[in-house]
Amino acid sequence: MAALGEEFYEIGGYFVMNGNERVCRMTIAQKRNIPMVMRRSIKSHDKVSPNKVCIRSVKSGYQIIQWLLLDPVGGKLIIRIAVKGDYHIDFFLILKALFNATEKQLCDLLVGNREENPTLFEMFQFLLRNRSPEDRLMSHHEARIELGSRFAKEQSEDPLQSCKTFLDDFLLIHLDNDLDKFNALIFACRRLLLLQVGQIQPDDPDSFHLHEITTPAIVCGTLLQNVLSTALKHSFSYSKKLVSKNEKSSTRKSKSGTEANPAVPKDPNENTIHSPKLWNLVLARCMGNVGPAICTAVSTGNFPVSFVEKVWLNAFSGIFITANRINMLQFMSHFRVAHRGQQFADGKLLEPRRLKPTSWGFICPVHTPDGTLCGLVNHITASTRISDQCNRDLVKNIPRVCKELGMLDDSSPPLVPVLIEGATIGGFPRDQVDEFVQQLRVRKVLGEEIPSTLEIAYHKFSRFDNTQHPYVFLGVSECRLVRPVNYLPLGKIEYISPFEQAHLHICLDKDSFIKGKTTHQESSKTNILSVLGNLTPFSEHNQSPRNIYECGMAKQSMANPMFSADFRSDTKIFKLETPQKPIARTFMQSEIAVDDYAFGTNAIVAVVSHTGHDMEDGMIMCKDSMQRGFAYASVYSTEKATMPSDGSFLTSVDPNTNVDRQFDTVDSHGLPRIGEFIQPSDVFYSRYDVEKGDVKIVPWKQEKTIIIDRVTAVSGEATRGNVGNAQNVKANIMTRLPVPPNIGDKFASRHGQKGICSLLVPAVDMPFSSSGIVPDIIINPNAFPSRMTIGMLIESMAGKSGAIHGTMSDASTFGTSEGFNETHTPVAHFGKKLAHAGYNYFGSEILIDGTTGEEMKAEIFIGIVYYQRLKHMVIDKYQSRSDLGPIDQKTKQPIKGRKRGGGIRFGEMERDALLSHGTAGILRDRLLHCSDDSHAWMCKRCGRFFNVHVFQQGGQKFRVVCSSCKSDRFVDLVQIPAVFTFLVRELAGLGIDLSLKE
Ligand SMILES: [Zn+2]
Repeated sequence: MAALGEEFYEIGGYFVMNGNERVCRMTIAQKRNIPMVMRRSIKSHDKVSPNKVCIRSVKSGYQIIQWLLLDPVGGKLIIRIAVKGDYHIDFFLILKALFNATEKQLCDLLVGNREENPTLFEMFQFLLRNRSPEDRLMSHHEARIELGSRFAKEQSEDPLQSCKTFLDDFLLIHLDNDLDKFNALIFACRRLLLLQVGQIQPDDPDSFHLHEITTPAIVCGTLLQNVLSTALKHSFSYSKKLVSKNEKSSTRKSKSGTEANPAVPKDPNENTIHSPKLWNLVLARCMGNVGPAICTAVSTGNFPVSFVEKVWLNAFSGIFITANRINMLQFMSHFRVAHRGQQFADGKLLEPRRLKPTSWGFICPVHTPDGTLCGLVNHITASTRISDQCNRDLVKNIPRVCKELGMLDDSSPPLVPVLIEGATIGGFPRDQVDEFVQQLRVRKVLGEEIPSTLEIAYHKFSRFDNTQHPYVFLGVSECRLVRPVNYLPLGKIEYISPFEQAHLHICLDKDSFIKGKTTHQESSKTNILSVLGNLTPFSEHNQSPRNIYECGMAKQSMANPMFSADFRSDTKIFKLETPQKPIARTFMQSEIAVDDYAFGTNAIVAVVSHTGHDMEDGMIMCKDSMQRGFAYASVYSTEKATMPSDGSFLTSVDPNTNVDRQFDTVDSHGLPRIGEFIQPSDVFYSRYDVEKGDVKIVPWKQEKTIIIDRVTAVSGEATRGNVGNAQNVKANIMTRLPVPPNIGDKFASRHGQKGICSLLVPAVDMPFSSSGIVPDIIINPNAFPSRMTIGMLIESMAGKSGAIHGTMSDASTFGTSEGFNETHTPVAHFGKKLAHAGYNYFGSEILIDGTTGEEMKAEIFIGIVYYQRLKHMVIDKYQSRSDLGPIDQKTKQPIKGRKRGGGIRFGEMERDALLSHGTAGILRDRLLHCSDDSHAWMCKRCGRFFNVHVFQQGGQKFRVVCSSCKSDRFVDLVQIPAVFTFLVRELAGLGIDLSLKE
């Protein structure tokens, strides 16, 4: 890849659209092909049961969501299908049309032994009784005609044919034949009835074991399908129109008898779609839209969706997002994120955000944004993969293998049914299922006869929870999340899905192993964490929210963002010039190439309250460290040199006179020289404007002095190497802004401990240790007690011991690599190493104050912590305002916006802070002089000022009179905020008189 000018570690998987890298987000969807019983909240006047079953039926990327509703008052079972309109159809009618079963047979399938479960039998009887007599007597054939006539598009259509179309294409499309569909409906209905009589609990729609992932491939496939089918529909109607139009014109011609050239033989296909001429017309008109439609979807993230596809994707905007390359961690995260769905983002629903135990090992509990999207934007764990479709040849073997293991053909209750992706293939007596599932799992792990990616989920019988209706579900579809765990009986890795995991007993280590129950063991304790979650050292010693903050901050830290920057024109690149590998490192650091994209620097950190400048998360930094390159960064940004009109081109030479204008910073091509310092209002580039007929300059408008890093000519002949002569050339000018650490810049350790640099102290004035070590950073001890980031303290010791002994220190979460535990603690481990080298066991040292030369009274904790420099810098944020700043014309208040020299809100809290300090003078300056200071005439007697009128008396003389007091004796000029006069006038408009008293 490097040879092609691309990133060496390029992973791909995104679109490049107008120079932006657009990623398709993964979304979480309901698990396919399995009925989910739910209880919805209903209002008391709704005369329906709160219970329902929902099946998301998916076949080769196409999906239909179906609901089975129960209406106990009307005593009716209804299937709701939202395809090409919203249909409510009687459940028993569909059953009858699918398979000719008697009521006795239905009873056997739905209820089983009626003596064993009399409540369910009553429920079943009730539903049957409520059907109208003619429905009950309907035969299989009659049912199909009845159903077909409802779906026939036209009167002439054969009802039997339209019934077949409906059953094949719109009902449970994941199943191939009527009998499978019949059985699947029976299965779903049995669950619904059991829920209705209270023998099972409803499924939790937010629980992760009932979820799967909508992958980019499916999104893009749907997009293509959608766009193409629209184009085909268009071309069909357009070709029809063309044919009829041609026919008309040809009949008219033959009538008038003036055929152009009767000698030319007539094309027999002329007026049909087979005519190439007509076909070309159709293609040009209708297919031209396919490409642009896909481009729009990718570049805006908005989908051109019809009704069906809306149901499909849950979210239909914001599916494509621009991938950010602040650093590699940020970029990589785009590909491992699963969005819960746009519909939850606006609501204040708590349930979809909750971290459910069923997501253990699949969704990282730490790596989620805080705030509005908390819990909705989930990151999958480092070990999780997304399953592919199972090998089709091996899938065919599954029923045979199940038969070999003793499966019966019958699946009616009380037998436990076995389903493959919703299709019932047989059943087992309840006491044999355990043995069967074990045997099947062994064959799965061996992976010879049946696919090793098979999903074997056995919902066991239990009196207490959801499963008085046990069943075995075998999944073979794609889009499942799977993760590796050790299958203990064989000692091999098995990939399990959340649906399987919910019913397995997996131990963490020997201590949690239960004989006869445990079948699996976690391969690592860190399996619950995402890639980013795994990068935080000693994160098990931190308070959880701090680890969440760190996952957010790691993505904003400056780093080496890419190696291919020379071949790219990103709008903005933050580059840390002196990145380092961390000394305290986790196993993940080596597993992915994060060292090549290092996102921080090892800093010597002293924890001491020093000079007061380190209070409230301020940090004192050593100026000499900064000058040596500590956390030194550059900001690269690309500016485009554009043309005002066609025919204009870049140059500093006037083509009319051939005179070079010789601007200071620009060469004869009109482009700035590489390495040139460009100051505010310097010439940035110059171009010949055809309309004005003159060479015009474009000045550098920003307030920062930048350095020209690279000039790339783009478009036209310029790419072939003749910049100067090429007409209509554009150029990308890459500028560089060196940003050394400055007071006000933001830094953070890897433990959610962020701080602002508050003071740069020369090394001579910094405290130093007995060996002459000067800290790079001083932070305040008060940062620790309330935040409880013990991991940072341990990292400090680990970094220090690593630096002394010349080794890297293992800081993996849960001490997985080094084998830390309750008895062998990291503090003891690194403490001993420090003591061995002659240092204090706990990492503290006596420091000497650089300003006084005296020993500090307390021992100071000092060590090495990996610090990140975050992209938020004071040069992008500082704002100031004087009394001459721009104001809003109506209210006379300062306008908003940093760029325009506007004001920032000086709110109540700020006001109170100044008042409590007794600095009222500043308050007057901020809220009056630099804001909406104004003067107004006022009558001191009546306390009003909007009825004071100024009369001109010729020349400079004028007289000011109060119209209420009819006098000018009490009128005086006062200084007030302009909004106050505004308020008085508004109140006057409401008929409220406001007067002031002295
Ligand atoms: Zn007055």
